[in-house]
Amino acid sequence: MKIAMIGTGYVGLTTATCLAMLGHTVSCHDRDPRRLAAIAAGDLPIYEPGLAERFAAVRAEGRLKTVTSTKACVADADMVFLAVGTPPQPDGAIDLSQVETAAQDVARHMPSGSILVVKSTVAVGTCRRLRQIVARQRGRLDISVASNPEFLREGSAIADFLKPDRIVLGADDDATLSRLRELYVDLEKRGAPVILTSTENAELVKHAANSFLALKIGFINDVADLCEQSGADVGVVAQGIGLDRRIGPAFLAAGPGFGGSCFPKDTRAFAAAARRAGTPQPLVELLIERNDQRQARLAQRIAEVTRRAGGRVVAAMGLAFKAGTDDTRESPAVTVISALRARGLEVRCHDPRAQLPTDEGMRGVTMFSCPYEAAKGADTVTLLTEWDDYRALDLVRLRAAMRGNALFDLRNLLEPRDATRAGFNYRGIGRASLGMASRHEAGERLTAAE
Ligand code: NAD
Repeated sequence: MKIAMIGTGYVGLTTATCLAMLGHTVSCHDRDPRRLAAIAAGDLPIYEPGLAERFAAVRAEGRLKTVTSTKACVADADMVFLAVGTPPQPDGAIDLSQVETAAQDVARHMPSGSILVVKSTVAVGTCRRLRQIVARQRGRLDISVASNPEFLREGSAIADFLKPDRIVLGADDDATLSRLRELYVDLEKRGAPVILTSTENAELVKHAANSFLALKIGFINDVADLCEQSGADVGVVAQGIGLDRRIGPAFLAAGPGFGGSCFPKDTRAFAAAARRAGTPQPLVELLIERNDQRQARLAQRIAEVTRRAGGRVVAAMGLAFKAGTDDTRESPAVTVISALRARGLEVRCHDPRAQLPTDEGMRGVTMFSCPYEAAKGADTVTLLTEWDDYRALDLVRLRAAMRGNALFDLRNLLEPRDATRAGFNYRGIGRASLGMASRHEAGERLTAAE
């Protein structure tokens, strides 16, 4: 099939490459000419493991190209995918302006009988709204508007696309659903379950799925706090509950809270849409609040320990919101570092992939290409992203580079015993006496509560 991809970010570029790998012909367009020029030159603006090689291969085979005009991109397409951004508004609701503008742009030029497919994560009811926009633009509704939410995870995006847990396709009529299903026939043959449904159901599956996954993270983080106060270890507790097949082990790693370009925005959008519909989702509302508080609380604790030891320099290991990506959007690492800066601490930073974001809060943070350089003269080191590089750190060398010996392992990457042996005062997450609160403090609190 001939596919047009509007938007060449993480989702657009990965989806375009993978659809070309499935044998389709894909034209990509982005409103950002510099991004498009870089892609055309083979210099991908994002890092995703394995993407650059596969992108080069499908391009060499003539199945993927970049196109500078919307019209040329969509004029002979069977399907036009929208993979543009859906950022949050101040109240948390989705800002659909990129989706609506892109829909207006392409609607003028799409062939009659083609399908406009919304890949971006949108609020329930968006496809219905887009049908009105398209009809207004064309004077009639002679193209279909469908929903095909994306579930890929940055860092494993290609594998997620090619071996999905499910493919969700939403449309108003059976003919559109059949054509969409055809697009993914190879994946279905390889065992991917396909859900054919309404656009409203498809839209809601995505927001509800992300909210549920974020709830798992929020839950285990609250359990981690209890572990620190009660002498338990959240790693073992998570393993014990995760082996229950009804629960499953995924998203049960305690840490600094969820972040990234999806969970914070999607939970807020889900909660805002539910509020507007008069059916608030109190669990998700509370989750969002607790997640924000968690990152602030961790930064406060790091600052207190650093200051109490007479120090003011923190070495921060990690910027990306998770390992395997260079994406720092809504990264817990960036939130914690900004909060440390706001408390007047000096921050020296390292990340194997991510660049220093230009956020106001990151002003004055210095970036180093070597973690041991970043640790030079630091009073405290904090591990913020779960890169394997940090699991493999030479702890003796790290400690020797520093002035102080405080180590906050917000991802539980290290064996506490190894860190202690290297001379660190180790604090992990939900790891009993080695947790964020010392046993002494925990004892005091328990006594006060009794
Ligand atoms: P992104 O910001 O990386 O990319 C969006 C791209 O769209 C940008 O390059 C932008 O220039 C382009 N764009 C915006 N308006 C345009 C227009 N009118 N015409 C042409 N190009 C336009 O975003 P992303 O991370 O790829 O996410 C895209 C969507 O997919 C979002 O709704 C997101 O929530 C959803 N999603 C993201 C992920 C993820 O892991 N990143 C996973 C699943 C779903």
